Amino acid sequence: MPDGFYSDPQARNAGAPLPAFTPAVEKETAALWERVKDRITPLEWRVQAPLIVEINRLKRQKDAVILAHNYMTPDIFHGVGDFVGDSLGLAREAARAQATRIVQAGVHFMAETSKVLCPEKTVLIPDLTAGCSLASSITAEDVRRLKARYPGVPVVTYVNTTAAVKAETDICCTSANAVQVVEAAAKAFGTDQVLLLPDEYLARNVARQTDIKIIAWQGRCEVHEQFSAADIVEMREAYPGAHVLAHPECSEEVVAVSHFTGSTAAMVDYVQTKRPKQVMLITECSMADNVAIETPGVEFIRPCNLCPHMKKISLQSIYESLVYDRFEVDVPDAVSALARQAVQRMIDLPPPAVPARYDLVRAQRPVAVELV
Ligand code: SF4
Repeated sequence: MPDGFYSDPQARNAGAPLPAFTPAVEKETAALWERVKDRITPLEWRVQAPLIVEINRLKRQKDAVILAHNYMTPDIFHGVGDFVGDSLGLAREAARAQATRIVQAGVHFMAETSKVLCPEKTVLIPDLTAGCSLASSITAEDVRRLKARYPGVPVVTYVNTTAAVKAETDICCTSANAVQVVEAAAKAFGTDQVLLLPDEYLARNVARQTDIKIIAWQGRCEVHEQFSAADIVEMREAYPGAHVLAHPECSEEVVAVSHFTGSTAAMVDYVQTKRPKQVMLITECSMADNVAIETPGVEFIRPCNLCPHMKKISLQSIYESLVYDRFEVDVPDAVSALARQAVQRMIDLPPPAVPARYDLVRAQRPVAVELV
């Protein structure tokens, strides 16, 4: 996150007055209400529906699009998101976006990625304090030290990193393509080892899918590291027919007791194609709500954990972001140019033939975890 992150003077702007729930609003949002009413209460809808109408009007007026991550709540994801999906999908959409403004319904590193890919556009994030434990686990200086320690070893960083870290990177990856990117980077550098930063658990899960030697960092997603194998075993005993789908930011132990492990996009694909009667998504809570709306007939069983950073983005903060054009995300040109290269190299790789999965053990190389 940039210096002065918490002291942006725009953060002191007063909130905009909230629009009212009128019969016209009720009529305009009736079809959407039918889709989301199992996940949102009527009381919540009286506040959310007028905001959805106003946000969609402001988007047209201000030539803006909203990129909404899978971890946004259903009112945002289904009500105002123009492009929805995982980090890779949103990065691709940011690169293609025609509008002059992008509102990032996600966390700060995602907004930086959009700015890096669309330097000529205004990129707004509704709450400047929406961070990420992975992004703040590593700095550009850490990466420079690692590069000095491992000369000639390609640096692959997860997109959950700051633009400054991406600028030190050879190529970015997401959980949807990490194995593919690691193998492509090793081949391009003519080596059999790769620095895969900063998520230790993702690195360990990737290491079981490839013969490339992985050197990792000790970053963790504070949401996914909370799940334990004991929790999952207990839930499986309670719901023996449920399919358990874990995200690769979970530990290897959690992956080992799950039926399937893949990116958020791969989880969606699994639920939509297999249509299990009961499913548990071992990831952020809103993901299950959003997929449930699109797959009626599938019962979603918690556990899940909330990401406190993602939950800082609300309809109200998106509305105020559009009203006041705040908070604009900027990335210095020199950093942006280098970071763009790293993200673009990832985008230019052909999409994986099948959604990546991490639960089938294909290799057993030990992982070196570095702290410099
Ligand atoms: S869920 Fe984890 S990786 Fe995603 S933004 Fe939250 S802390 Fe970061």
